[in-house]
Amino acid sequence: MNYYSTNKKDLKVDLREAVFKGLACDGGLYMPEQIPAVPPLFLSEINHHDLQDIAVFLSRLLFGEDIPEAEIAEIAADAVNFKTPLVNIKGPIHTLELFHGPTLAFKDVGARYMARMLGYFTRDYDREIHVLVATSGDTGSAVANGFLGVPGVKVHILYPAGLVSRIQEKQFTTLGENITAVEISGSFDDCQALVKQAFSDKELNQKLTLTSANSINVARLLPQAFYYFDAWRQMANHDNIVFCVPSGNFGNLTAGLIAERMGLPVSHFIAATNVNDIVPEYLKTGSFTPRPSVATVANAMDVGNPSNFARILDLFNHSHHDIAHSITGYSYTDKEIKQAISRVLNDTGYLLDPHGATGYMAAEAYLKDHPEANIVFLETAHPSKFTETVTEATGKEPVMPERLRKFEKLQKKSVPVSAKYQDFRDYLLGLL
Ligand SMILES: *Cc1c(COP(=O)(O)O)cnc(C)c1O
Repeated sequence: MNYYSTNKKDLKVDLREAVFKGLACDGGLYMPEQIPAVPPLFLSEINHHDLQDIAVFLSRLLFGEDIPEAEIAEIAADAVNFKTPLVNIKGPIHTLELFHGPTLAFKDVGARYMARMLGYFTRDYDREIHVLVATSGDTGSAVANGFLGVPGVKVHILYPAGLVSRIQEKQFTTLGENITAVEISGSFDDCQALVKQAFSDKELNQKLTLTSANSINVARLLPQAFYYFDAWRQMANHDNIVFCVPSGNFGNLTAGLIAERMGLPVSHFIAATNVNDIVPEYLKTGSFTPRPSVATVANAMDVGNPSNFARILDLFNHSHHDIAHSITGYSYTDKEIKQAISRVLNDTGYLLDPHGATGYMAAEAYLKDHPEANIVFLETAHPSKFTETVTEATGKEPVMPERLRKFEKLQKKSVPVSAKYQDFRDYLLGLL
């Protein structure tokens, strides 16, 4: 199957090139030329399967033309080797826990998948591949852990100095081997801009083989559709299912829209954000106004220019009317997020993380006007990844699972670089 650029539909590449390039050379994002529909039997028999089976089945459907069946099945099964359980919280509000992977965040799914797919495509490659990733927190650890030890691949994690939580930082600055943490004196948007500029730097790209592992990469984006099917499978009642997605770059929500196009019966989507409310504002007013991001307690969603918005526009042929018909947006302040963590814990015994808290509040808000909705909000990270905020909200420190605690004892190692492109370019050229 071919992939086209959201900027120019007749600019098409195959899967291998889409995965390598990440971003199309005209600055657009790649989209699959056809979104394959699941056979009706797949949904009626989905109860006999688990997430891993779903991942293998949908991978064949999406990538089976480009990667031999046995290989793609192995990539899928190996990448998606943990569960995404659905938990009922209160009445019609459910959560899909996406934090059971190695770094306790939903990005493990896409990052592990992409690392394995890139490993497949570069098996016989004679040059080193450099993966550039800008992270506001969770991408870095998920990608770093996903790629750790993959031969022939070097990973460079760009992160904003002082703006990610301590435990997040530990998860990608302590790994060593083929992983380097690049500490940028700037914001997440600066990190993202540096990566974008490196990809559009022709001379640099002749010297180094660069690829991205941000949520713009189709090998990260498309596998995120799998767990929407897994959520649907676990719902007792399949009427009026509404997915509510805590959002930053909108990769996760876009994957949900793709799942729907593949045939998953979804009645509506909700986008929950922190005060970086560019998309909720667009949904209300029709005007999309990117601006510098504001730091919040839900920092993995501190995005001022959501990159996957281009894909959402593309999926709906740029119709604001149709987009607003399918997606409702809500945004929340830090104060509201902390209050919700405390209130939900007291009311239900369930401990939310700051990102999931926006999802919970948005679910409640939507239910007021749509009492028939049957809502699944995505819990995108484990609360103990945001110890400071959760402790402040509840007065009690969240229990950290052992696989996260082990990072605390390790020594941080990073390369400090300014937010100027020339400095970042020099760093990259220094790798030769
Ligand atoms: C990345 C991230 C988000 C935002 O996901 P997008 O796909 O960028 O919208 C939300 N919550 C957590 C915990 C994250 O790490």
